[in-house]
Amino acid sequence: TKESVKGFLRRNLFVLLTIAAVALGVMLGFALRPHNLTLREIKYFAFPGELLMRMLQMLVLPLIVSSLVTGISSLDSKASGKMGMRAVGYYMVTTLIAVFIGIVIVIVIKPGKGHRDSPVASSSTIEPVQAADAFLDLIRNMFPPNLVEACFKQYKTVYKKTIHTKNVTLQLLWINVNIMWMVVLLLQETVVEMIPVSGSSNGVNALGLVVFSMCFGLVIGSMKQQGQALRDFFDCLNEAIMRLVAIIIWYAPVGILFLIAAKIVEMKNLAEVGGQLGMYTVSVIVGLLIHGLFVLPLLYFLVTRKNPYTFMAGLLQALITALGTSSSSATLPITFRCLEENNRVDKRVTRFILPVGATINMDGTALYEAVAAIFIAQVNDMELNFGQILTISITATAASIGAAGIPQAGLVTMVIVLTSVGLPTEDITLIIAVDWFLDRLRTTTNVLGDSIGAGIVEHLSRQELQSQDVEVGNSVIEE
Ligand code: ASP
Repeated sequence: TKESVKGFLRRNLFVLLTIAAVALGVMLGFALRPHNLTLREIKYFAFPGELLMRMLQMLVLPLIVSSLVTGISSLDSKASGKMGMRAVGYYMVTTLIAVFIGIVIVIVIKPGKGHRDSPVASSSTIEPVQAADAFLDLIRNMFPPNLVEACFKQYKTVYKKTIHTKNVTLQLLWINVNIMWMVVLLLQETVVEMIPVSGSSNGVNALGLVVFSMCFGLVIGSMKQQGQALRDFFDCLNEAIMRLVAIIIWYAPVGILFLIAAKIVEMKNLAEVGGQLGMYTVSVIVGLLIHGLFVLPLLYFLVTRKNPYTFMAGLLQALITALGTSSSSATLPITFRCLEENNRVDKRVTRFILPVGATINMDGTALYEAVAAIFIAQVNDMELNFGQILTISITATAASIGAAGIPQAGLVTMVIVLTSVGLPTEDITLIIAVDWFLDRLRTTTNVLGDSIGAGIVEHLSRQELQSQDVEVGNSVIEE
């Protein structure tokens, strides 16, 4: 009836607007392509999209800090510990599954077999650097001496250098130090900017902020009455930021329209992407689709026994924003909103889990790193043995944890995967042409993985959440 149509439109207004924006953006982009706009014109044209990126990024830092601090301080330390373990367990399992899917697909499709597409430009000026330095930087970044500085600067000793081990150092690190997943996690901040990638890195040390906020939240939580003022402060800050998000949401469709249109205007002729690169692109897409449309939903269903696709429908706007911005950090504000408003996920879970997930959990990136590395091996006619494939799966996992949630960060952390099995890092140039596109798709998968993770952790933690409800009378958080 008319009433229910109206209700549907009202409930789904933003989703519909966002979908319309994508469609319009694509049309506008293709309509303008034949006009051969100059770089300057494209820049002006892209401006509304750039503004959306900036608005979202502006909110990310206060959002990460306030949500983690309130999220953690509102839980007792036992509950947050359990929740954290579940989240990390979920991250590891799903990331490894993603890598596995990627490896199977690239081995089956063999996109890199046959005649080499084009000669590699070996223009990169790469200097050797010790993996240990990178590792230390990672740890350094976990403890920023100056929090304000951490908001715009990360520590890098090894700017413009790369890791130059023929396996050995890295492998020793993995195996001996036995904190494998932490290792490359921390390479994150180090390797960014080694290769000039357009529009990349805003240099935020998100990891440092996450670590600080978690510790701070734990301490405030243990302060009982004394900590109340700070709890109220961060709670209120969080609420205020979310209200800003609610305003920006109105602008999001416009921004997304121009982000997408401008990208289509400026992209190289797709017809040129044939042969091996084309098959490589297909491999990554197939892998991401399997992971995003089947594996993650199945996992969600197995754990919660609820319909995963209804859950995913609620996330649509966040997924489209990820597609438009290529950044899971920038999408974070929208992800919060979708999960809390549409899917009614408990705020104590989202506040805790989402900022961490957006920083370290990247299924799409892990899958892509594995496919890309094996693709490059195939192009070089290099047969990989089982040990090397295992190394690739470990380093791809680590590289995904280490990649920052910003555009094309995964392309940069690829260096880790390639060097770990002795593949030529300059061959990254082979896949740069299609990376902007694959980046959008893997970012969407990353955001989906984070969100489904929040749903799963909420379900697994319902006992703790309920007992907390009873304790505190469920006061501030649920309102
Ligand atoms: N752009 C991705 C993200 O923000 C990271 C990557 O480059 O894979 O999630």
